[in-house]
Amino acid sequence: MVDRKELLFQLQQVDITWTKVQRRLVRLQQLTYGQEKLAEARQELEEREAELQQLQGARADAELEIRALDERIAEADKRLMSGAITNPKELENLEASIGAMRRQRNMIADRTAEILRQMDELGETVARLQEMLARLEEECASRRQSRDEELLQRKKEYVYLKKLRTELASRLPSSLLEEYEQLRKRKRGVAVARLQEDVCGVCNMQVPVGLVGTVRYGDDLIYCPSCGRILVAF
Ligand SMILES: [Zn+2]
Repeated sequence: MVDRKELLFQLQQVDITWTKVQRRLVRLQQLTYGQEKLAEARQELEEREAELQQLQGARADAELEIRALDERIAEADKRLMSGAITNPKELENLEASIGAMRRQRNMIADRTAEILRQMDELGETVARLQEMLARLEEECASRRQSRDEELLQRKKEYVYLKKLRTELASRLPSSLLEEYEQLRKRKRGVAVARLQEDVCGVCNMQVPVGLVGTVRYGDDLIYCPSCGRILVAF
C-alpha cells in the first residue's frame, strides 16, 4: 500500500504539471498567430487598390475631356477653313479660341501621362502587396493550425490530470489535503519537499538527523525546519 506521504508527493507532482498545463492553455488561447500583421497588410492593400481605382477614374475623365476637346477643335478648325467667316475680328477670336483649346488639350494630355506613370507605380505596389498578403495568409494559417493542435493536446492533458488529481485526492484524508492546499498557497505551489539524503530537496538546507529518521520511518508529518514544507522520503 502506498503511504499517504508518497500519495501527497504524487499529488503535488500532478498539481505542478496541471498548473503548467493550465498556464500554457491560457497562453495558447491568448496567442496571436500574425492576425494583426495580416489585417495591416489587408488594409494597406485595400487603400492602394482604392487609390488605383481613383487614378483609373481620373484617367477615364481626362480621356473623355480630350475627346470632347478634339471634337470641338475639329469643329472650330472646320469653321475656320470653311471660309464662311469673313469678319477679321471674328476670325481672330476663333483662332484664339482654337489655340486656347489646344493648350488645354496638351495640359490634359500631360496630366494623363502623369496619371499613367502613377498607375504603373501603384500597380507594382499592389502586386507586391498581394504577394505579401498571400504569404502572410499562408503563415498565419499554418501558425494557427499548430496552435489549434497544441490546444487540443493540452486540453486532453488538462482533463486527464484533473481526473488523476481527483482520484489521488480522494485517497487522502481531507485534513491532510486541506493542510497541503494551505501550504501550497503559502509556498508558491510547492508544499511537499523530498529528502535528498539529509537535505531538503526544495530549500537545500540540512535537516537534523533525528528528524530525518522520523521522516523516513515514521508516519507523522515532519516539516522542514528551514522552509516549512512537509518532508517526505521514499
Ligand atoms: Zn526545506
